[in-house]
Amino acid sequence: MKSGWVDSEAQAAIDRYARDGISRDLALRVYTTRLIGRDPKLVLHGGGNTSVKTTMADLLGEEVAVLCVKGSGSDMAAIEPAGLPAVRLDRLRKLRARAALADEELVRIQRASLLEPAAPNPSVEILLHAFLPHKFIDHTHANAILSIVDQPDGEAICAGLYDGRVSIVPYVMPGFALAKRAADIYEAKPDVEGLILHKHGIFTFGESAREAYERMIALVTLAEERLQKNRKAVFVTAQLPQAIAPLDAVAPILRGACSRKDDKIEGAWRHMILDFRASPAILNFVNGAELARYSQAGVVTPDHTIRTKNWPLVTVAPERERMDDFKRAAQAAVTDFGERYQAYFARHNARAGGIKRALDPLPRVALVPGLGLFGLGRSKEDAKIAADLAQCAVEIITDAEAIGRFESISEAEMFDMEYWPLEQAKLGTAAEKPLAGEIAVITGGGGTIGAATAKAFAAAGAEVALLDCDERAAANAAKAIGTAALAVKCDVTDAASVGEAFARVVAAFGGVDIVVSNAGAAWQGRIGEVDEDVLRKSFELNFYGHQRVAQAAVKIMLAQGTGGCLLFNVSKQAVNPGPNFGPYGLPKAATLFLVRQYAVDYGADGIRANAVNADRVRSGLLTDTFIAERSKARGVSEKDYLSGNLLGREVTADDVAQAFLHQALELKTTGDVTTVDGGNIAAALR
Ligand SMILES: [Zn+2]
Repeated sequence: MKSGWVDSEAQAAIDRYARDGISRDLALRVYTTRLIGRDPKLVLHGGGNTSVKTTMADLLGEEVAVLCVKGSGSDMAAIEPAGLPAVRLDRLRKLRARAALADEELVRIQRASLLEPAAPNPSVEILLHAFLPHKFIDHTHANAILSIVDQPDGEAICAGLYDGRVSIVPYVMPGFALAKRAADIYEAKPDVEGLILHKHGIFTFGESAREAYERMIALVTLAEERLQKNRKAVFVTAQLPQAIAPLDAVAPILRGACSRKDDKIEGAWRHMILDFRASPAILNFVNGAELARYSQAGVVTPDHTIRTKNWPLVTVAPERERMDDFKRAAQAAVTDFGERYQAYFARHNARAGGIKRALDPLPRVALVPGLGLFGLGRSKEDAKIAADLAQCAVEIITDAEAIGRFESISEAEMFDMEYWPLEQAKLGTAAEKPLAGEIAVITGGGGTIGAATAKAFAAAGAEVALLDCDERAAANAAKAIGTAALAVKCDVTDAASVGEAFARVVAAFGGVDIVVSNAGAAWQGRIGEVDEDVLRKSFELNFYGHQRVAQAAVKIMLAQGTGGCLLFNVSKQAVNPGPNFGPYGLPKAATLFLVRQYAVDYGADGIRANAVNADRVRSGLLTDTFIAERSKARGVSEKDYLSGNLLGREVTADDVAQAFLHQALELKTTGDVTTVDGGNIAAALR
């Protein structure tokens, strides 16, 4: 591991922040915090923190001694000075004299001691920073350090490796007790460069930002070098089936197994989003004959537990021709996982006085021999974090096993960490949106109605995939929604293209819950004279396109076994033909019946099928030129043409999007057609 310190960059940070009145101390603190934060072998997802002791003017302009410490949960790679809230140092130091300190009390004292009342909560490890005397302190859960300390004889290995350069702190849960213990151990040998926290991580310190940071790099590098010596081969591979099923066949089954029926709302499911990873290192790990031992041994560092739970789910290897067996085995594995989790909770909650509330008993990481690993979460973002941490754990455990045997903290210690209110606070308490955990696919996603619908579903909490034959249009619409939205090229007139597009959605999110089959185009022609080719072309897109999409979706929904929702954009032409619009209206009429057929055939599987009948919506189909022509032909203004309905209101793409959203949320409605046309009695459905 190399130092990333560059004098000119450090100076540039000092100069840049000086313009905002930020001190040299804090500027350098930001600079090296970012250096640490950008290296995933040192820090992942808030798993580390840094501090500086300096002076600062309080709100009254009086200079006071402060500890600027990383805010809880903030990203070190992109930290700004405001991400290191300043706390009055004298108050924090006074706490050391206490025999005990309750978490709630610490949080109240911290908040009351912040210089800026609106600042974020400081790191849960604040007191450790406060009780040590050094100006700059860096703390990480570096992979190489964890591979060495997560061993039965980890303390002895460290003592030999560091030869007095560090002191070793036995495992104590983060918080007040650890801070006191670490300070006592430091003071017994004050010439050390850092502290190694058994089964947790490493602290380094110094009088300058550079000294603390480069000590971190040097001590971690020693650990990395140690891991290259006397390695034994890991892992011996288990017997696996010849033909392993592909990701798009496995993920929906796994996702279904990890979903739970909502206790309160009949027909509703609590789904997880999946994030898949595979690499030679991951496969080597999940294919190991002793996977059941080393994968279930516990977390690599205590703060992973809130994101990954203490153990991953392990399934059997999925054999290509025997997916029913895999489904049964996966469901049984998830049931066992839940029972084990509930028993673990009950055991330790009793010890904690019965005051804790159980978290959901579903896995956050799943290991599938032959295939790879999945992170699971209620959003794609959470699933990615779980997968990142799991991938990191694979590396750490592999290295630990290569030099000895991986060993975690005890089950009781993991429970204390998982149910520590200060840790749970990192996950936030924002209420979930109505479509959280749901995956929605929108065809014609690059068009006006498709893009508006995808946006509405994303705003309601769903993960969205925008399918369109115009890849760029889909990408632009996805970009407007946000980073998690997926754009996929898909031609719904081509069965192979539809199959590939759905496989990509499954690879990205783990399955499909809602489909808005919206792609379409208008052809015109007087029905008695129209060319048969035109009619067939329109059927290919405006009927078979919907059928292909629905069929691909149903296959995935049945594999999940958790119901689903098929929504179709059916024009008012389906019930109220316009002159010379037969080539468009006829396949749409067939699609209206397709909706009802899906409602009939799949109702028992919990799959709903509904349609929206929209009319005169400004879109790629009803272009500005087209509107100009039609309104001119009728001798009315464009506005009157667009609002020529009973309510006299123009219907927009957003209105159509809201209708689809409404149908997605109506769990007791199937075979329905919702009209969004401002009122057109000739097109009213009886
Ligand atoms: Zn830590």
